[in-house]
Amino acid sequence: MECPIDGTTLETHTVHSINIEECTQCRGLWFEEGELRKAKDEAEPDLNWLDFDLWSDQESFAADWSSRKCPLCGKNMATISYAETGVTVDYCAEGHGVWLDKGEFEAIIEAFEKDIMSKDISDYVTASLEEAKEILVGDEGFVSEWKDFLTVTRLLQYRVLAENPKVAELLTALQTTSPFK
Ligand SMILES: [Zn+2]
Ligand SMILES: [Zn+2]
Repeated sequence: MECPIDGTTLETHTVHSINIEECTQCRGLWFEEGELRKAKDEAEPDLNWLDFDLWSDQESFAADWSSRKCPLCGKNMATISYAETGVTVDYCAEGHGVWLDKGEFEAIIEAFEKDIMSKDISDYVTASLEEAKEILVGDEGFVSEWKDFLTVTRLLQYRVLAENPKVAELLTALQTTSPFK
């Protein structure tokens, strides 16, 4: 598979038994749909905190066409954003997976942090986020040991992507207006 930005062949990494493709050139990340589902299926009691009220305002989601193409099917992806968080991801409207530019993973972490600061959440979560941030602002590229990796993949799956009814609805509406057909 090739990077949707610069065409570099993507490199596979395995984190918590989940395969992620990374572009060695621009450090973007591709999460295939089946791999995201694996994250969801993995039993991890520590992740129950994700059930709290984060990104639950359905009206804050927006979708538009992206100029990037899905590495799997080659069709234009959609951008999905959540108001005021600064979080935007590219998602294949056919459900093949999600692309995160370098920095977007970090933006998700920062959005978490902001939301968490405004709520009363456990020290464990706060400490995990601090750790995640340190790793993500480093220069070493992809880091394979990160306990909150599953948290972010789950958040993507549950809140931002196909399992979110509002996003599914937005994507369906978007597809009827495709300028790329
Ligand atoms: Zn790239
Ligand atoms: Zn696709």
